[in-house]
Amino acid sequence: MDEKYMKEALKQAKKAYQMGETPIGCVIVYEDRIIARGYNRRNTEKSVFAHAEIAAMKKATKKLGDWRLEGCTMYVTLEPCQMCAGAIVQARIPNIVIGCMNPKAGCAGSILNLLNVPEFNHQVHIISGVLEKECSELMSSFFRELRTKKKEEKKRLRLKEAEQPVND
Ligand SMILES: [Zn+2]
Repeated sequence: MDEKYMKEALKQAKKAYQMGETPIGCVIVYEDRIIARGYNRRNTEKSVFAHAEIAAMKKATKKLGDWRLEGCTMYVTLEPCQMCAGAIVQARIPNIVIGCMNPKAGCAGSILNLLNVPEFNHQVHIISGVLEKECSELMSSFFRELRTKKKEEKKRLRLKEAEQPVND
């Protein structure tokens, strides 16, 4: 079951990939049905809030007509950041299923675990490593492609510079 929904989150992540966005996707499941989907659109929207999780949470909130997303399970391809982890706690989402962890920015156990702070009024049950390989390979192929593009761009600029006549 977890894999089935993570596959749907991966589909969302691939949408981001196609737009040149870091490929992160998310779906929210309620009563065994997907009620919301989202993917990272940070560059497209020029907004720090355009993370996959926030987009999906907005839609789920609308659908359920409640800011509390009780009874929901979030599936996300990458460990959430501090902003999203904070929002997940605020929305009282009881369960999260994570594809791969994010040692550089993750706040569901990697850098911090905002989802399980006993002093807060809500804790989130975490399952991680579902379709981990697919999720992390999508990320690494995105960044590999990005590096190649940057290298090619640099090369192109150098060639252009070399073509310029020297004025002396
Ligand atoms: Zn985030």
